[in-house]
Parts: sequence; structure tokens; C-alpha cells
Amino acid sequence: MTKMDFSFLALSHSIDMTFKSSTSIDQFLYDFMLLFVKEDDIDCVNHKIKIKILQQNTTELKNRVDTFIDKYKDSNLKVFQLRSYFQKLTEGEYFFIWPGNPLTTEQRIDFYKYLTSLLEGNDYETIKSQMKELFGEIKKVYSISAFDASTKKTIGEQDKSKRVCRFCNNTRTNISFNNIAHAISESLGNKKIILNEECDECNSEFGSASGIESS
Ligand SMILES: [Zn+2]
Repeated sequence: MTKMDFSFLALSHSIDMTFKSSTSIDQFLYDFMLLFVKEDDIDCVNHKIKIKILQQNTTELKNRVDTFIDKYKDSNLKVFQLRSYFQKLTEGEYFFIWPGNPLTTEQRIDFYKYLTSLLEGNDYETIKSQMKELFGEIKKVYSISAFDASTKKTIGEQDKSKRVCRFCNNTRTNISFNNIAHAISESLGNKKIILNEECDECNSEFGSASGIESS
């Protein structure tokens, strides 16, 4: 194996990681997975190790991560992101580790619900039905994306020649799509969710002194 994806999900911070190399990373992955193994996860009789996807950020884990980073710091694998991730979580915070295929939005939301139930000491099923009540109707007409500080996303047509501005419908005389347009106003703190389908003229009008951004 030369490549493996992992997602870490916690209420305070989530991240997707990819470990890849031109050579085998089997030993690396084995050591990596051992970070999350507890004594009672090891079945010595059948030579099996179980890794629970629900984990807790503890000092002990952070120490193991430090040792792991020390071992692999000279490799080309991006191990340092592990330390910064666990430093961002609060002490004792629960998180999920998910190997392989990227999670769907639905799966992410379910994981967040579960983490919320743990944090608030509520029953998972109760939280689930509350969320359904809150978001059920919205979810019928909108797609919901979970995101945090590490998310980068562009919305809309990638090919500039095919873009239609969703505000003026390309009715302006000079249509161009060269500026970076923020899908949610930059003044609200959004830096990374970019809208492809906003033409330069609409963009500069929204951002002008009398535009919607300054309001
Ligand atoms: Zn426009």
C-alpha cells in the first residue's frame, strides 16, 4: 500500500489527511493504527487487533503521537499535522477516526450528532429526532455541507467560458470571471468558500461603498 486517507472528526475541529509515498507505507500505517489501540483491543489468542472508531484525546495519546512523529519525521509523510490536530482538541474530547473512503455529508452529520450527544450527556436517538425536526424540511431543498476552518470549497461551474452569473444572469455588457468571489460574504469571516458563478461586475458592485458587503 502506498496511499491511505483518514478523516478525523471532532466538534471543535475536523480534518482529512492523506498519507502517501512512492514506496510502501505498510509499516507506517501499522504504527499509525497502533496509536489508537488500547490494551483490551488486542486479542492475543486470535492475533487480532480491533480499533474503535470513537476515540478520546488524552495526554497519553498525545505522548504516543509525539513518539510516532519522532520516528517518521524524516519521511516524506506529513506527520506533523497529527500533532497540531490533537493540540487543537480539548483535553478528553471525543473524536472519530475514519479510514479509507471520504465520508458523505450525511455520515459526517451523524457523527457530529453522536459527538454532540456525548458532550451534552443526551441520548443519541433524542438528538437525532431533534435534528430531524429542525433540519428535515431544509434538507429536502438544500444540500448541507459540514465545514470548518480547514475546508476549501468552490461552488459552481469550473469552466469560465460556461459560467452564468447567478446574480445578473450574464445580462451585463462585459462579462468576465476573473475576481475571487466569496459565496458567503468575506465580511462574515468566510475566506475559503468561493463562488465561481459571480461575475466581476456584480462582485465589484457588491463590494463597493454602497454595496451589500459594506452594509
Ligand atoms: Zn453578474
